Amino acid sequence: MSTANVRTRFAPSPTGFLHVGGARTALFNWLYARHYGGIFVLRIEDTDLERSTEESVTAILEGLEWLGLTWDEGPGCGGDYGPYFQSERLDIYKYYVQRLLDEDKAYLCYCTPEELKARREEALAQGRDPKYDRRCAQLTDAERKALEAEGRQPVVRFRSNDVGTTEVNDLIRGQIIFENGMLDDFVIQKSDGMPTYNFAVVIDDHLMKITHVIRGDDHISNTPRQIQVYQALDFPVPEFAHLPMILGNDKTRLSKRHGATSVTEYRDQGFLPKAMVNYLALLGWSYSATDTLFTPEELIEKFSLDRVSRNPAVFDMKKLEWMNGVYLRELDPEELTGLVIPRLQKEGLLPESIDAAARERVKKIAVSLQSRIRTLAEFVPSSRYFFEDDIEYDPAAVDKILARDYVPDMFAMLLDKLMQVEPFTEDNIEQVFLEVQEEVGRKLGDVIQPVRVAVTGTRVSPGMYEVLAALGRPRTLQRLKAAAEMAKAKLAGKD
Ligand code: GLU
Repeated sequence: MSTANVRTRFAPSPTGFLHVGGARTALFNWLYARHYGGIFVLRIEDTDLERSTEESVTAILEGLEWLGLTWDEGPGCGGDYGPYFQSERLDIYKYYVQRLLDEDKAYLCYCTPEELKARREEALAQGRDPKYDRRCAQLTDAERKALEAEGRQPVVRFRSNDVGTTEVNDLIRGQIIFENGMLDDFVIQKSDGMPTYNFAVVIDDHLMKITHVIRGDDHISNTPRQIQVYQALDFPVPEFAHLPMILGNDKTRLSKRHGATSVTEYRDQGFLPKAMVNYLALLGWSYSATDTLFTPEELIEKFSLDRVSRNPAVFDMKKLEWMNGVYLRELDPEELTGLVIPRLQKEGLLPESIDAAARERVKKIAVSLQSRIRTLAEFVPSSRYFFEDDIEYDPAAVDKILARDYVPDMFAMLLDKLMQVEPFTEDNIEQVFLEVQEEVGRKLGDVIQPVRVAVTGTRVSPGMYEVLAALGRPRTLQRLKAAAEMAKAKLAGKD
């Protein structure tokens, strides 16, 4: 297998968002091209005019850009073998259809969809092979004229070779042998003049000098058809590599039922592109049983098709979340701050424009929560109490932790000291807590836990001194006062 001048491509049909499976295919093509210093082409297969949309093209490009899967030729950047939208290449397909017609390797077929359906059903009912019966394969000129006179619009069918076998030496699956008898004379140009996928893909992969066709294994059955087209046109056949299917945790094909399937949804949920790329790379590829964390650069260096499995890969959300947590912890404070600010603004927890001091404060909060969140989206609920005055209290925490008889007096003591401590820093706050602990003669946890409930409303948060310092003195005091009242009222109620 030659790896000189590697050219791979991702060829999505723009009929929806960028699916996790599509992103994995794009990633493997990108990695393969980058590993060998080759070219990664992006081609938009938009010949299905009814289902292709502009929004979908935008969503796909956005998804790829977000993942950092830069293409060397394609939409936006052009290249020597464009255009890269199939809808702009119709003349090219027509030219090759005509060539096959001229060489009698294809023929016009006038059968209508209704006739084909009726004949298929009849064949099935009689236990015969339902494939196209080649009724139009040998029409005379006169017969053709007569059919056209009836107003029929012909399709063009490829004259498949139906004897012998077609072999594929798949770089992942090894040798696959297809019985040509299974192939029918498939349509290469529809009655509206549009090419079909199995035809256009061959023309484009050839003209775009694609050396390796790496795609999902749902295309395996298309491969012998495509190889026959290559052969009919005397085009060299590229290498093929079919990637294993991606399953959900219940071992059925990954779909909406299993959660988010679009790459942009993962972006919106606060996954980091590096984590996503790392995780997608492991859907079918592995380097060793123990190594799982790879930067894009490491993936490029280590990637090879012989480490791609033939077995289906299982999409494991828990593992992706874990991995995202790892990458979140690696972010430097500035970067993390830049990522959480828009999320807080979107929730109305921060104003549209913030000054340097407010940014510093967000940074402190972000860093204190950095090791506790798995996605950026989790940051908003876990940090709400820093930004809102009316916090929500977990009723169980209030009953069990706040409503203890020593709490109101202890809070009074804390309020008194916290009001005076200067400056209001983590170290000084810690000092206050130690003093109060001493005075009330309890464990430190007995001081901290009620304060935690008082200021966060919950039983879990980052370190208490860190939280209070980030919350600032006025809010801390105000929450302790309110909680002391709440505790008193609860205790009075209990009597
Ligand atoms: N447009 C096809 C798809 O999205 C491309 C398949 C291929 O890579 O050949 O499935």
